[in-house]
Amino acid sequence: MPTLLLGEADVARLLPMDECVEVMAEALAALERGDMEQPLRFVVRPAEAAGLMGLMPAYRARPEAAYGLKAVCVFPGNPARGLDAHQGAVLLFDGETGELSAALNASAITAIRTAAVSAVATRLLAREDARGLAILGAGVQARSHLEAMALVRPFERARVWTRTPERAQALAAEAGTPFPVEVAGSAEEAVRDADVVCTTTTAREPILRRAWLREGAHVNAVGSSIPTTRELDTETMAAATLFVDRRESTVNEAGDFLFPQREGAISPDHIRAELGEVLTGRAEGRTSPGELTVFKSLGLAVEDLAAAEHLYRRARETGAGTEVDL
Ligand code: NDP
Repeated sequence: MPTLLLGEADVARLLPMDECVEVMAEALAALERGDMEQPLRFVVRPAEAAGLMGLMPAYRARPEAAYGLKAVCVFPGNPARGLDAHQGAVLLFDGETGELSAALNASAITAIRTAAVSAVATRLLAREDARGLAILGAGVQARSHLEAMALVRPFERARVWTRTPERAQALAAEAGTPFPVEVAGSAEEAVRDADVVCTTTTAREPILRRAWLREGAHVNAVGSSIPTTRELDTETMAAATLFVDRRESTVNEAGDFLFPQREGAISPDHIRAELGEVLTGRAEGRTSPGELTVFKSLGLAVEDLAAAEHLYRRARETGAGTEVDL
């Protein structure tokens, strides 16, 4: 079987954000039903190295069996070189024969699928009357989150804040959103009147404080995917009704969860539900307009597998990509 190669432009064209939101909702529900499975990711993080490598395998049993593996290198110094910090490939394997069906650009998949999952969370958990949006960070995820958030609530305004004002200005200027995007002078200014807040930074210490959050706000906490960094302060996590992509991942990998747990502020019981449980009706989402909801995103291998399957199908329909015999 030839292997189909799909590059960055193919992925961007064949995985529009609105389609990806539905693909992610289906994948998270499939994980909850037991139709998909994944172990914890494996991370190679040499002490002296400039970056790390993460291996994220997953399996889908039905309707068609498939294996996926994202091999992703994360190099925080890359944006200064004009490169995406996330580099790598998603490999898609035939679930009956093990043949390699496709190899796909992981930077583009990661950018799109992460924001699409936050859109699923926001659609489920944010107040219906949410009109103000705040984005902390102005990198790859900030850009894709602006696009994704616009799909799930009729926002009237957005504020972006990051350390380097010129980067926030560039993001605000190029945002193709149906609402205006302003640059805020501080994280607090961005967040104060926001109903939905997305944290998408590589910050190591909290950049979001409970005291700044409006009643009934929803937070998508996306930026920290490792145990040693966090974006949210302990007070936010303790006050929030907490939703996650996967419990097992959260209690092993999420600094946003592990720091407040070490301080004795929360325990694993603090997690209300996985998104898949809310999607399948096994758990409740928001229960009152005044509730503070947090979705802690870590990123799951099943999301990459589902994105790759969808892209493979769409490429087959349209003749996109390049076939090679490996
Ligand atoms: P980028 O490097 O493109 O952007 C990072 C942004 O964070 C920049 O705007 C940078 O600001 C800002 N930043 C860094 N440090 C601070 C700080 N101390 N305070 C405020 N802002 C800060 O990264 P990505 O957008 O690709 O990824 C962002 C984060 O999301 C990463 O930590 C990544 O690991 C995580 N991630 C999570 C995923 C998930 O599934 N949950 C998937 C993919 C990524 P400035 O421009 O001013 O330097």
